[in-house]
Amino acid sequence: MNTREKYEIFYRSSMENREEFWKEQARLIDWETPFTRVLDYHTPPFAHWYPDATLNLCHNTVDRHLAERGDQNALIWVSTEVEKTLEITYRQLHAWVNQAAAVFMQMGVTRGDRILIYMPMIPQAVVAMLACVRIGAIHSVVFGGFAAHALASRINDATPKLIVTADTGMRGGKIVAYKPLLQASFHQVKVAKPKVLIVHRGLVPAAPLGPDEWDWDREMDRNLHAQIPPVAVPSNHPSYILYTSGTTGTPKGVQRDTGGHAVSMRASMKHIYDLRPGEVMLTGSDIGWVVGHSYIVYAPLLTGATTILYEGLPIRPDPGIWWSIVEKFKVNIMFTSPTAIRLLKKTGADWIHRYNLSSLRYLFLAGEPLDRETHRWIASTLKGQVIDNYWQTETGWPILANHAGLGLMDIKFGSPTVPAYGFDVHLVDEITGEPVKANEKGSLMIKPPLPPGCMTTVWGNDQRFVDTYYSRFKTLMYATFDYAMRDDDGYYFIMGRDDDVINVAGHRLGTREIEEILCTHPSVAEAAAVGVKDELKGQEVVAFVVVSKEGKPPGEQELKDLVSHEIGAIARPRDIYMVAGLPKTRSGKVLRRSIQAMAEGRDPGDLPTIDDAAVLDQIKEAIENK
Ligand code: AMP
Repeated sequence: MNTREKYEIFYRSSMENREEFWKEQARLIDWETPFTRVLDYHTPPFAHWYPDATLNLCHNTVDRHLAERGDQNALIWVSTEVEKTLEITYRQLHAWVNQAAAVFMQMGVTRGDRILIYMPMIPQAVVAMLACVRIGAIHSVVFGGFAAHALASRINDATPKLIVTADTGMRGGKIVAYKPLLQASFHQVKVAKPKVLIVHRGLVPAAPLGPDEWDWDREMDRNLHAQIPPVAVPSNHPSYILYTSGTTGTPKGVQRDTGGHAVSMRASMKHIYDLRPGEVMLTGSDIGWVVGHSYIVYAPLLTGATTILYEGLPIRPDPGIWWSIVEKFKVNIMFTSPTAIRLLKKTGADWIHRYNLSSLRYLFLAGEPLDRETHRWIASTLKGQVIDNYWQTETGWPILANHAGLGLMDIKFGSPTVPAYGFDVHLVDEITGEPVKANEKGSLMIKPPLPPGCMTTVWGNDQRFVDTYYSRFKTLMYATFDYAMRDDDGYYFIMGRDDDVINVAGHRLGTREIEEILCTHPSVAEAAAVGVKDELKGQEVVAFVVVSKEGKPPGEQELKDLVSHEIGAIARPRDIYMVAGLPKTRSGKVLRRSIQAMAEGRDPGDLPTIDDAAVLDQIKEAIENK
């Protein structure tokens, strides 16, 4: 049987014998109370996997491995920011997680409470995540590069009882003070102010603790020998919330369950990523993103593998840093974003050739489109398998992939290959919802129920979950918001988002958040943010603002700083144009697509419904005169 046939049989069994299939996968996990039913799908599109079972995620990631792997490294922290390496065994991780769980409980956190984690890439961040799920608390990790406004909107929505943070982050050798960002966010918080637990990293003198502030080290030391038994929670109990952006509204809290999440993570290691217990994984991402949640923390630890937590840039102190880590720790599987590889491509193949990479079986890339040129370059440079995989925060694991664990299918550059088991993928016409033919562009939809591990709802807002993802057509289908095409061999090609989401270096940004921030400037009447093509980062943000008649006109720099200050440096627009008006439909909808086309030097196309055609000329002129 060739690998294609093997995949076909596996995929078909996940479709035709869904419950049997996921019952089998569930054997990979330790359950406290076993399930008698695999799926409850009485209230579509809400899928409850393993509805009557209970389990604990921290038991499955940590305690479970103690007998066999207590002295094996669970986590290796490599920081090129502070030039430190720390190897942490499963036994040590277990002790720390117990201590942190005790601290959280002493600070009043109980099952179901939210804990917001706003931290740099340090081991305490992983310890905090695992300690949350140990006691049935729900973590919400906020990317450490986000700033005051982004943080405040997440605090307002998740209403955490506690925030775990550090006094400083580090980026490219520069210290980023977190406390002022947190304090600035508190000015925008409308809910009860949470308590704060702070890791003092020793990079700056420790500031005195304010009221409702606790010191991580001191509290951990007080609980040196704490033993907090893992709390068994129902399978559908939320394990975490992770905020992500769309076109409209505030960021959505993607809610993930516990049982389905555990099964999906462990199974994906086996069938897709081919990481075996005891092996080593290096994921170059950030724990603030879904790739970090899934493939720095949960999936490798559920597998009893060693995961490397890397704090730093991929090119510092030199562009060989990741490959030196692969050599030193005999990394078997690596995962990062296409942008990171494009960055390394600029520095040349020599940096890769210097190291012995014989342990490395696969490099996986995801988070944004992987262009053919970059794929070809890294595959030939590594002389190894480089695998594109496509998924989203919402799904938590791949929708499209080449299943390394089943045996790789032929790789086609530019394609994340075929649907992953459990995902009933359809490409349909975006207006009619009818299936499109091979080699035709369509909207990528998934027929529910979605497999285990996918978002169970939007935190606190079931209606928004249904309205956002399931109301495009009359028949119930999950919308990915991506266009795709399938070729004659059944390989898929992703062709970009069908909404206004901007993807900068694999980081997803909503247009509305950026526009709202620009509009907080007293002299800005209106704003439109779009993503424009960028050689390195895939896309960059470009904004157009309409300046109000009153007041002093804002400077471009001032507006860029405002965005960095409120959302974070990743959202900082590359260019901001002051224009007289924005092109809109008669019903007042801003035509972001036309603006984007012009910003990329393309023709905005035919716009018969536009309200004021003159504004297009003015935008064109502003771009040309830059
Ligand atoms: P996020 O939720 O931040 O992971 O972003 C998900 C979005 O990133 C998807 O909806 C796609 O638009 C894009 N994306 C992720 N992986 C890929 C890939 N392998 N190829 C093309 N686009 C991708």
